[in-house]
Amino acid sequence: MKGVRLITNLRFIVDNNVGKLAKWLRIMGYDTLFFDGSDDSRMIAIALAEGRVILTRDTQIMRRRVVTNGRLKAILIQGDEPEQQIRQVIDTLNLDCRFMPFAICLECNQPLLERSREQVKDLVPPYVFQTQSQYMECPACHRIYWRGTHWQAMTKKLEKFRRGSAGENIDKKRTIEES
Ligand SMILES: [Zn+2]
Repeated sequence: MKGVRLITNLRFIVDNNVGKLAKWLRIMGYDTLFFDGSDDSRMIAIALAEGRVILTRDTQIMRRRVVTNGRLKAILIQGDEPEQQIRQVIDTLNLDCRFMPFAICLECNQPLLERSREQVKDLVPPYVFQTQSQYMECPACHRIYWRGTHWQAMTKKLEKFRRGSAGENIDKKRTIEES
């Protein structure tokens, strides 16, 4: 086993049987590939080549030698519900010390670029333009992101998971400063 990988370097590949995890991990700022194939060997090859942690419900993958000997990290996801699943990942890898929303495109996993209000003026609905000042754009799909209600709902849920993971006494102030 290698030493402990810096948590900021964590990257994931999500099997299609736990595909909803991709969005959650991206919203947390983690580079996360969604593997939409059926060839396990291909997924394992990508994970090894790119240093990604595999998230899967497939017990076969957990029996592969590269996984059992520790060369490749894989997590067998237990729950049926996406929220249970992300909670398992947060708990297993202690992900609560890094939380960087607004960094990665939720659809295509590209790092987002900052955009000024003027730059997005004609690209977002008028009510958004009036109420939001911070925008990000995906360089690949050109989706524009802002902290709308859907976003807030997801980040609130994540906050709740983190508090659950860290117990009652989480130091909220510190967490905000780190994010
Ligand atoms: Zn995109």
